[in-house]
Amino acid sequence: MEHSSQRAHKLTSTQTILFNLAIQRLDDSMADFKTHITVSTIAGALLGAGGYQSGMPWESCLIAGGLCAVSGMLPDLDSDSGIPLREAVAFAAAFIPMLMLDRLERVGLSHEMMLLVTGMIYFFLRFGIAELFRRYTVHRGMWHSIPAAFIAALFVFLVSASENINPRLLKTVAVFVGFMSHILLDEIWSVEFRRGKYVFKHSFGTALKFLGETRIANIMTYFLLISLAVLAYHDESIMAHFGYTHQHDMPHTAVDWMKVIQEQSGNWIR
Ligand SMILES: [Zn+2]
Repeated sequence: MEHSSQRAHKLTSTQTILFNLAIQRLDDSMADFKTHITVSTIAGALLGAGGYQSGMPWESCLIAGGLCAVSGMLPDLDSDSGIPLREAVAFAAAFIPMLMLDRLERVGLSHEMMLLVTGMIYFFLRFGIAELFRRYTVHRGMWHSIPAAFIAALFVFLVSASENINPRLLKTVAVFVGFMSHILLDEIWSVEFRRGKYVFKHSFGTALKFLGETRIANIMTYFLLISLAVLAYHDESIMAHFGYTHQHDMPHTAVDWMKVIQEQSGNWIR
């Protein structure tokens, strides 16, 4: 390292470094975005193909593959600006109402009512959730973590209903894989090969983690994770209780499921 020469031109070299960093960051984020989408799409294609091989309907496999691809962007919901946030929010807002169609239909809503409900969900996600993320998350905070990947997966598990548990699990796994591919890539990207040796960037260890630096963010993350896990766990036992796995019982179970959830949520609030 040329420390003396760097000191001699302190101002100019600092400016140069800052300028280079800014350019590099811009380049990195763009390259990252493309890489994330590419990798999660490939993972989604493999997952979909695997599901099809194991005898699942091709529509479910296609949806799972698409979910995996889209989930590759989800962690960057916490980046306050730019393409990742806009695209991730737009995709999530469009996809989640579609995932819910099945469940809404089973609850017995008319098609027009479903349009209303999904439209409302879209606007809530597009603007409400986007604003929440903009305000309360830090880039590479707890939304870039392993528990966050479980949160996203559990959320999709709860949102999507299916006659058969397997396509539903495939969607859940797809979101988890897509999400994990993103934070894994972020972590790989933080190791650089420079001048013949590996250098850890400042961002090393900020993606593939269980705990972040802020206590409140950690508490909120695990609170959300445990809440969703409890809901998902009850969902399983309730489904088994009502014979959800038997095809002929199907039409009634979603309604029963909603009733039980209502009762349960009443109990939890008290
Ligand atoms: Zn990221």
